[in-house]
Amino acid sequence: MILIIQDKIGINQWTKAELQQLCRRTRNPMTMHKCLHPRSDVDRVYVERDQGGRGLMSVEETVNYESHSLKKYTEGSRVEFIRTAGKIINTNSENGRQEYRNRQKIERKQNWHDEPMNGQHLRQTEDQASKETWQWDQALRTNYRKAKIDKPTNDLKCRLCKQKDEKVSHIVSECSKIAQTEYKEGHDKVASAVHWSICKKHELPHTEKLYDHRAEAVLENEKVKLLWDFNVQTDKVIEARRPDLILINKETKQCQVIEIAISGDTRVVQKEDEKIG
Ligand SMILES: [Zn+2]
Repeated sequence: MILIIQDKIGINQWTKAELQQLCRRTRNPMTMHKCLHPRSDVDRVYVERDQGGRGLMSVEETVNYESHSLKKYTEGSRVEFIRTAGKIINTNSENGRQEYRNRQKIERKQNWHDEPMNGQHLRQTEDQASKETWQWDQALRTNYRKAKIDKPTNDLKCRLCKQKDEKVSHIVSECSKIAQTEYKEGHDKVASAVHWSICKKHELPHTEKLYDHRAEAVLENEKVKLLWDFNVQTDKVIEARRPDLILINKETKQCQVIEIAISGDTRVVQKEDEKIG
């Protein structure tokens, strides 16, 4: 579609509304094929992929950008007819196409960032210097969203624990009411996979496939001893005194205590501190 339009730039004079309509039509198939959530942020679609966006080319921006190029070309032409024809080309920036493109990029990112719901995750993770695209749509109908955006209710607390704000990040990894069921299951699966990998590495008995693996409480050979979900005797009472795995190296007499924590992106640092401390 962009290619078809590029051909007509400088010949057809589109209005801003027409260009935006064309942009909408390029996004519709994405929504139809479930590649784009109907409530997701429009600016994000056009932000570059390494910035957490979807990297789509905007029809409006392409037309404006190419108009700049065409205007510049006609202005420099030695043929008077072309110079005259070029005068009818409208551009919306005095400072050339690169300035226009840079300005668009900044504005898009800022609009996405400032959008109350969709920009939330971007704001929460911006200080964790990472370009990895863990940005995802904040489109679930949580109480937090209802209270902040839709406003039919003022209760933004979680329906289950009634303690914390009901945000997606809370439901996915923080809620104390789900901790013993869903999170525990996720945690145990990860712990089991770690256990299986250690068995493989140190030639302890293990199944060929990970999904057949059932962790034994104690496994050992001449070199190592591996304990699973084992109560450790500690001098003083500490809250989490049940590590998931303990690997004892019989040769070096070293002992590794392995704890698995599943947490949301925004709480990684906090979880690390809890586990080390
Ligand atoms: Zn909760």
